[in-house]
Amino acid sequence: MLVNEIFHSLQGEGYHAGTPAVFVRLSGCNLRCPFCDTQHEHGTEMSEEAIVAAARNLLPPPSPLRPPLVVVTGGEPALQLTASLVEALHAVGERVAVETNGTLHLPGNVDWVTLSPKSLWLGDGAAPVLTRADELKVLFDGGHDPAAYDHIDAAHRFLQPMDTGDPARNAALMRQAADYCLGHPQWRLSLQIHKILNIP
Ligand code: SF4
Repeated sequence: MLVNEIFHSLQGEGYHAGTPAVFVRLSGCNLRCPFCDTQHEHGTEMSEEAIVAAARNLLPPPSPLRPPLVVVTGGEPALQLTASLVEALHAVGERVAVETNGTLHLPGNVDWVTLSPKSLWLGDGAAPVLTRADELKVLFDGGHDPAAYDHIDAAHRFLQPMDTGDPARNAALMRQAADYCLGHPQWRLSLQIHKILNIP
């Protein structure tokens, strides 16, 4: 399995924002979003045993407590993720969450699915095959209507202002996204707190 990075931090986005988690970033993605800000292409070949060992080594001794979450992300983790890795990662964290663009099916033993579809920007070729998720997270750029994903069955719906790299534009998008949530209360605002805190 090609692994981009494994690290221990706080989940920065969505429902679990602020929650301690071990992150396993798998390399590669099947989409090419023009706004992608994740360095996911490079990777090291690792066995599932080596991934679990590396993840466990990140945890501060001597706490007997596992962190609440292991987050498998990418790139697109569904390109490589196996049920056996999900099972093994339960030794690292209490629950295994996956962040996906939804274009590929996931192993059935994932505990939490965060679906972040990209077909608003890439068209039908990026339409999600997943029709339900624990959490739907849609980027907000002020020009595309998140209602396009109203058919997705999700317990939680988050609107996340896109990071344009321009502070003034970002501030305007945050205000617009907040207004959208006020008018559409099924949505909640998600801010990228790891960027605010300047942590990985
Ligand atoms: S789906 Fe995510 S990781 Fe893949 S290119 Fe788009 S933004 Fe980047």
